[in-house]
Amino acid sequence: MNVTELLRDSMKTKPASNRGARKKTSTSKDVVRMNYNENNYGMSDKVKQVIIDAALGSYMYQDFYAVDLKEKLAGLYGLTKDHILVGSGSSAVIDMLGEVFINYGDEVVYCMPSYEAFPDMVSDNGGVRVPVPLDKDYKFDLDGMFAAITDKTKMAIVVNPNNPTGTYVNAAAVEMFVRRLPEHVIAVVDEAYFEYVDDDTHYSLIRMIQEGYDRPLIVLRTFSKIYGLAGLRIGYAVGDPLLIDELMKACQAWNVGRNAQMAAMAALDDQDYIKEMKALNIANRSYVSGELKKLGCDVVEPAANFIYFDAHRDSQAVRNKLAESKIMIGAPDAFNRVSVGTREQNEAFIAAMRMVMEELPVR
Ligand SMILES: *Cc1c(COP(=O)(O)O)cnc(C)c1O
Repeated sequence: MNVTELLRDSMKTKPASNRGARKKTSTSKDVVRMNYNENNYGMSDKVKQVIIDAALGSYMYQDFYAVDLKEKLAGLYGLTKDHILVGSGSSAVIDMLGEVFINYGDEVVYCMPSYEAFPDMVSDNGGVRVPVPLDKDYKFDLDGMFAAITDKTKMAIVVNPNNPTGTYVNAAAVEMFVRRLPEHVIAVVDEAYFEYVDDDTHYSLIRMIQEGYDRPLIVLRTFSKIYGLAGLRIGYAVGDPLLIDELMKACQAWNVGRNAQMAAMAALDDQDYIKEMKALNIANRSYVSGELKKLGCDVVEPAANFIYFDAHRDSQAVRNKLAESKIMIGAPDAFNRVSVGTREQNEAFIAAMRMVMEELPVR
């Protein structure tokens, strides 16, 4: 069977990625998951109840166009429901961006290391990856990105805060970058961790859309992180209705489930809980980062619900050692990335890290 012959050209040349892996990623209950940036406190009691009730209605199809959820979001932002696209996770929306806008040969500029779904999406559609290194503080290098824009650039992507580094760039700088882009470039700003940023001067770029910005800009948000609904798969894009209408063309048929829509609406109604989660994360994050520093790690200033750090040990070995203690963290490169968990989880992680630092040789 010559499968390669059957492939679309972009798939023939697409570099290997996690999407092609066949590893099991579910874990047993006794494993502490600090590798996916989930909210390990879960959802509020109100949202839990809505999910339980919704689950029993699963014999029914959902509202195919998630109109109630879009209206709720529109109300929250002072926009119309036509400014909102709901997808099964913002990752699904990222794929739609590629399918609708990226043609063979189109260049897409972003920074690396960052969220892998973006380079994946570029290659899926035959686009050309134009990765720019992060700056010396592990932040998105907006000037570097601007310098990489050409006549062939179709899209410029800013992940803010960034994953895996946890750094952020102040919204005013991102807004300036977006405004400088030539008209043929679509600006995409991924704000998956926006709610965690503890800075009064920071704002969502949704504001530009509220102000009627008339050039292509898409802002991505998700219910997977602070809202604690990762397993339900729901996220959304905000943009001018002209862009959203085109994006809808690539929406996988009826892919946002009923339970996810119900849970997302209930979660939006419970903003007190989100505030509480933000405050807890700030306290827990500061504990983990302080303790890691005491253990001799270099810690990159975190703005989200995870910490990117250099243990000066082989990062894979650090991850593997912790896995022996049933604590999962990430090793995206020479650094490690640990999600901020509950207090108990963080204490268990630090205790295990203390042993890891003693047992493993300095790199
Ligand atoms: C987790 C994450 C997302 C959200 O993914 P979902 O598909 O909504 O679960 C998006 N962007 C970044 C940078 C992330 O880290």
